[in-house]
Amino acid sequence: MANHYPHKIHKIFKQLLNASQLNISPKLKIVNGRPNDPFAVVALPDGTILLSKLAINLSYKDVSETHGEIRLAFILGHEIAHIVNGDFLPKAFIGTSKYLKILQKNRGKIGRQKEIEADKQGFLYSAMAGYAVD
Ligand SMILES: [Zn+2]
Repeated sequence: MANHYPHKIHKIFKQLLNASQLNISPKLKIVNGRPNDPFAVVALPDGTILLSKLAINLSYKDVSETHGEIRLAFILGHEIAHIVNGDFLPKAFIGTSKYLKILQKNRGKIGRQKEIEADKQGFLYSAMAGYAVD
């Protein structure tokens, strides 16, 4: 597998932000994940989105590069939606060094309905950016 295509992922992120014309400027940080936590993706209240290398690898796993990018566009769109909607883990959790542990403990606190909403918006942003999410 190629090396996570980090520049590509930042490009996808920019495309999503441009296409959705949201008045926000979140930052994307690619971080080391843990082998047992593939879903290490989170939006922080300061507008930073953390995406683990493992989540990236899983997105590209067993599919074409194009398909992998579509998955990532959707994942990033979902997290952008959380920033737009103000769905965050409690502020005390800001700080990236222990976030995975904290995230594992707190997953589920955001609530199912908000997750469904973020999925819908993430889908929309991805489609607007030209990713064939269907
Ligand atoms: Zn979510």
